[in-house]
Amino acid sequence: MKANPVMQSNQREMHRSGRVGWLRAAVLGSNDAIVSTASLMIGVAAASASKRAILVAGVAGLVAGAMSMAVGEYVSVSSQRDAEQADIGREKQELATEPQAELQELAMIYVKRGLEKNLAMRVAEQLSAGDRLGAHLRDELGIDQASLSRPMQAAWISAASFAFFATIPIAALLVAPGSLRIPLIAVLCLVSLAVLGAFGGYLGGAPLGRASWRVTLGGALAMAVTALIGRILGISVG
Ligand SMILES: [Zn+2]
Repeated sequence: MKANPVMQSNQREMHRSGRVGWLRAAVLGSNDAIVSTASLMIGVAAASASKRAILVAGVAGLVAGAMSMAVGEYVSVSSQRDAEQADIGREKQELATEPQAELQELAMIYVKRGLEKNLAMRVAEQLSAGDRLGAHLRDELGIDQASLSRPMQAAWISAASFAFFATIPIAALLVAPGSLRIPLIAVLCLVSLAVLGAFGGYLGGAPLGRASWRVTLGGALAMAVTALIGRILGISVG
């Protein structure tokens, strides 16, 4: 009895995945922000630095991370967009020079999807009478014109989400009493990771618990390693 509704809800998630692409990227960026900023601050704190030094490390980590996310996303989404634009340009040219062959090609796509030949031809003709380029992009190249890659949007969303979530460990530092700095930063960040992990799993249609555990465990490992290295450096250098 239970398997059916679960499968249905998973399928609905999959259909939504295109539209929530940027939201998914924002969730992943936020995991990155929490893990890297918290690890950085814990590493500095473990070297028995002052509150001021830990704060500077945290803020520098926030700015550096947000910038690096923006540049990285811009570059990666730009190359994706270049590929899309090249495909669109090629298709436009083919439609202009060989309209008949293109119509046949579109009809053949519908035949392969199971339409009978005459019907496929009529579907191709009717779709071509409307938005011809749109029909070819969608059915031949799998490009949805409504969701073309947007490099600037990807850049600022990832930078903003990084900056926003990097404030979690910084806020933890500001409210924590001196002796509880490291545990409070770690606990607050791990709880945030668990929640975000579950949310990411929900968006991707994956089991919530597993998605949440993976990211929380990964974050805990990252913090433990940097804490250890900070401690060793703090003893040997300081
Ligand atoms: Zn075509």
